[in-house]
Amino acid sequence: MLRAGLRFAKYPLAGLVTYGIGSQKGRKPFGDAVESDADEAANKPSPDAAPAPPEKPAAQVWPKEMKDGIMLHPKLCAPSVFSLHDKLNNPMSYDESSDTIGMYLNYWAPYAARVTVPVMYTAPSNDFLWYATLEALEEYAAAFVSSPKVECGVQLKSPHCIELSLQGQAWMVRFFGFAMEGSVLGFCLSPDQQLLFSSAADRIINVWSTRDFSRVYSLYSTYDTGDVFCVSYSAALQTVYLGAQNTSIQWYDLKEKARRPPPHHSAHPSLREDKFFDSRGPGGVRTPRPYSAEHGPRHAKGGQTLEIDKENIRQYAHFGYVYCMLLARGVGTEDPDEEVLISGGGDGIIKLWKLHGQAGGAIEQLHRLYDGREEGDSVLTMALDGTFLYSGRLDGEINVWDLETRQLVRSLKAYSDDVLTLSVGGSFLFSAGKFNSQYECESRIKAHGGRILASAFGTYQDRHIYVTGGNDNTVAIWDISDCTSAPSVEKRTSNEQLFESLKRGASYLRSVLKGFGATTEMLTTEDPFNPVIFARFSGNSVTARHRKKILFYGHYDVIAAEDEKGKWIVDPFSMQGIDGYLYGRGTSDNKGPIMAAIFAVAELNAEQALDSDIVFLIEGEEECGSRGFAKAVQKNKELIGDIDWILLANSYWLDDRTPCLTYGLRGVIHTTVQVQSEHPDLHSGVDGSAQLDESLKDLVMLLAKLTGTHGKVEIPGFYDPILPLTRDEESLYADITRSLIQRNPDLGDPEELSASLMRRWREASLTIHRFQTSGPDNATIIPRKAKASLSLRLVPNQEANEVGKALVAFLTHEFQKFGSNNELSVTIDHQAEPWLGDFNNQIFQTLEQAIMDVWGPVDDRRRRSSLGGALKPSRSGDYFGSRPLPATSSTLANGSAATPKEDSNGHDPGQVLNRARKPLYIREGGSIPAIRFLEKEFGAPAAHFPCGQASDSAHLDNERFRLLNLYKSKDIFKKVFRDLPQK
Ligand SMILES: [Zn+2]
Repeated sequence: MLRAGLRFAKYPLAGLVTYGIGSQKGRKPFGDAVESDADEAANKPSPDAAPAPPEKPAAQVWPKEMKDGIMLHPKLCAPSVFSLHDKLNNPMSYDESSDTIGMYLNYWAPYAARVTVPVMYTAPSNDFLWYATLEALEEYAAAFVSSPKVECGVQLKSPHCIELSLQGQAWMVRFFGFAMEGSVLGFCLSPDQQLLFSSAADRIINVWSTRDFSRVYSLYSTYDTGDVFCVSYSAALQTVYLGAQNTSIQWYDLKEKARRPPPHHSAHPSLREDKFFDSRGPGGVRTPRPYSAEHGPRHAKGGQTLEIDKENIRQYAHFGYVYCMLLARGVGTEDPDEEVLISGGGDGIIKLWKLHGQAGGAIEQLHRLYDGREEGDSVLTMALDGTFLYSGRLDGEINVWDLETRQLVRSLKAYSDDVLTLSVGGSFLFSAGKFNSQYECESRIKAHGGRILASAFGTYQDRHIYVTGGNDNTVAIWDISDCTSAPSVEKRTSNEQLFESLKRGASYLRSVLKGFGATTEMLTTEDPFNPVIFARFSGNSVTARHRKKILFYGHYDVIAAEDEKGKWIVDPFSMQGIDGYLYGRGTSDNKGPIMAAIFAVAELNAEQALDSDIVFLIEGEEECGSRGFAKAVQKNKELIGDIDWILLANSYWLDDRTPCLTYGLRGVIHTTVQVQSEHPDLHSGVDGSAQLDESLKDLVMLLAKLTGTHGKVEIPGFYDPILPLTRDEESLYADITRSLIQRNPDLGDPEELSASLMRRWREASLTIHRFQTSGPDNATIIPRKAKASLSLRLVPNQEANEVGKALVAFLTHEFQKFGSNNELSVTIDHQAEPWLGDFNNQIFQTLEQAIMDVWGPVDDRRRRSSLGGALKPSRSGDYFGSRPLPATSSTLANGSAATPKEDSNGHDPGQVLNRARKPLYIREGGSIPAIRFLEKEFGAPAAHFPCGQASDSAHLDNERFRLLNLYKSKDIFKKVFRDLPQK
């Protein structure tokens, strides 16, 4: 609204709204249009009664009764309005009041002819200052000859102050509708950048040629869409999609435009009433608006007018306004080239839609992204980055969605304003602030005086640029090359940030599998656990009926790595090759082996030599005990299908030279034992007495019952299920010790070495990891609560469930004997079954042959003696009475790390290099919960093929994987995937 005295407008005028003014003075006190029921003018003053000012003051204050009589009406306004009189009755410019009814009538028309913006004009029927008939209105409207659009109407039963009348609300609504009509709300560019699509509040979608900015098409719906907030264009289907205020998504197939019936002009939005914004209140009238091709914004002329078919409308696409949409490829469907429409609505939900090209571009809901909140805050804008979708909401909230799993990954609080626009580029997310790939806010730019409504990221002359458009009528172009060339070494400070990387890693791994031709799916696990990647490479179709299925199991998660102490020689999360090794977290555990297996299948596929189906299950929670894995597999049993063999590669050789095969893993039970008293933390000097049952004392006494001398576990029946050592197995140990000691004599006595290995591999054990107590950390406290973390390593034939039960029963029984007033609780935090493979079966035999073929002769030369007898032989008859100094994993790894230059005995090293060596059959002390589970679930035998060396430092600083092992492992996998199905 222009106001007198404003020297210049802050914003250029987009439209003109006038009311309570016209072209003809009122002819009667209340005009011709006065309704009979409002005609009670007895106590109303007439204009003639207005006192003529004696002189010409600058301003005058009108008497209360007179002013209210002219402006308001007791029946047409709420009584409360009259109480505002003193507040509202400001002095009125004398010039203004006299000019309005006098001189104005002589000069208004030439001014009206110069107005070039749309005009909305309303006359209140009970305004006796102005004559409010349709004829008078038309005369007034006709004067705006340069205006692209003039809308005028009579607001019945309203006095001069239309906005304060009872009918005022209807007028206000129409006023806002008019104000919004011109605004462009959505844009999109065709992929070839030839066509620009714009949608606006005038319910018309204009399609412009980017060459000369002429209008090619104007598209509209015959339904009252309200504002068209967003528009998208599928070049593949040549179809325009729009999202509207009336909750609908509509589409138009441009290929069909010649075959469609010509549009009925009567259905054009400029001629239709808008149920909402065109409301004039009960009884309102309006002059008809003649159709004209020149309706609408100044430049929106020409081109072909197209009408959206009634069939091409999806009502209630959202239970709210459809605010934003975009087209994406390869998300939500199996086909990586298929286009999917993504829409965000006022209902706070994001939907993925399938596009049916055969059915004129019709949409069908595929998925919905929903974060479970009852009242979803409107999704106002979206941006896509690979398979990650960012959505902006009210109050500065940005959500990060993984389209693979369709889960909410993260919510960011950007700032306090609504997020109206998002763009992605140069590994940054730009909102009004911008975020780096770890979603830390990197920097803030004060961009515009008003709100930023639109943004884009692009490159110009090799520089990254970011463009913003604000409601301050400016477009700003930012050179952001400095911040997009961020250093590659990123700080990693929290698990939450690692979690993001993990999601990206999963996404990447899946794209690799997809790229090599696998069909893949993300199997969701229970929140908040990471998903399992499923992928299937199908063998030759000729062999479809009888082909065998091999399941490869691995994990894409890693142990945390922090380089605070600078012990890593590389950034743990930027892989680097040094001296034939790939350094970086996860290289050996478990990404290197996974890549070896994938590339093996890919090569067979390319050579058309894949006769079996290879199924990959790569989980993201292995380092956390495979949380959610079992359930996810069971839920997707049908998808995975039946399996003949299971293969995994998640362990290491015994040393750095001799290839191994792992046929056994120990199981594990993690448990917490807690003793708690009713009294608070006490002071030993005040309360310490023999009568007090102290929690920590009870706990120590109790744990002491668990093991006897030399770690013998005292839980009744604990050792009973353990299988005796067979001849076959014994010879495996002999083979191992011979091989190890031949090369490293410092390892000492073969019998002791094999006893030490057996203790770690095939015998159960119990460890107390740590104690925790309540209260402050000083030496006078009697803690109220004491707890200890324990683990038991189990061996094949021990059932984790049974052992767990026996443990709880034993501790409870022993604790009762104390007669303590304290309370005991034992919880099993995590358990995994032990596993024992049959090293004589086909899969092990195939692996053995492949390893011998690929690795060939193994260098069995001895290393020079340097440790000087790390193992002292000691003998004892009693099993638990003997105390050998154990050869730990680090002794074995260190013992082989140095490469011998010459044989210490002076033998010609060439003598031992002529014959392929059988791999060592080993077991492991560690646990992998998934392996036994998969065996049971699919009734298929598993084999464990260690790809890495003992010095790979899995879980430690400077984890690495030898390049040679990577390539050899790939070759071994290839042979196994090719040869195993022949057996
Ligand atoms: Zn690990």
